[in-house]
Amino acid sequence: MKLIFLGPPGAGKGTLAGLASKEYGIPQISTGDIFRDAIKRETELGKKVKQIVSRGDLVPDDLTVSLVKERLDQADARKGYILDGFPRTIPQAEALQGFQTLDAVVNFAISDATVVERLSGREICKSCGAIYHVKNMPSKVKGICDACGGPLYTRPDDSLESITNRLDVYRKQTEPLIAYYRDKKLLKDIDSSKSPEDTQVQIRVALASLG
Ligand code: ADP
Repeated sequence: MKLIFLGPPGAGKGTLAGLASKEYGIPQISTGDIFRDAIKRETELGKKVKQIVSRGDLVPDDLTVSLVKERLDQADARKGYILDGFPRTIPQAEALQGFQTLDAVVNFAISDATVVERLSGREICKSCGAIYHVKNMPSKVKGICDACGGPLYTRPDDSLESITNRLDVYRKQTEPLIAYYRDKKLLKDIDSSKSPEDTQVQIRVALASLG
């Protein structure tokens, strides 16, 4: 299965891509995670994209496309994958179409108010990547990961200013992909305003016909 998870920041793409990756035995490929990892390791790529990512702007298309192309060439992505956070622009989608045939695009629908609420309280474990929320899903001990005991942190682009910008960028640059993939009859709409479990069931139903 070759899948795209599409939706605004905070829609739960990352969480659900992680769950679906385990369920279907295909890798989750998150461009956001690739960039954050490069920033953390202070690689050339990381230095190039650090400011862009913390503002919530998009990394240039050519750079992003070549990274994804390289990643999809690896053996584990041959039989399928979940692209989480890519494509984010029409040119990225067109480039992808040049070298891959997709099975479905899962479109996560959610309101702006819910996005702001979710992202402004989000905390992430520095060691294992588990995701918490200060109000909706707090860790048992403040600042410490329940799963591995690692320290929790707030992503620099989860400031209110960057969240607002990311939503704006999403509306202008990414939302047109909904019509693009609907036209190609690939789109599967789901409502991601509820719990991860509820969203996971909707995804399962939406993808059942793919076998
Ligand atoms: P979210 O969906 O919560 O905004 P991501 O982890 O998907 O977060 O992405 C974080 C940041 O990484 C984006 O705001 C952007 O700066 C960069 N990024 C991720 N994917 C892409 C992409 N496909 N094209 C350009 N920039 C990207």
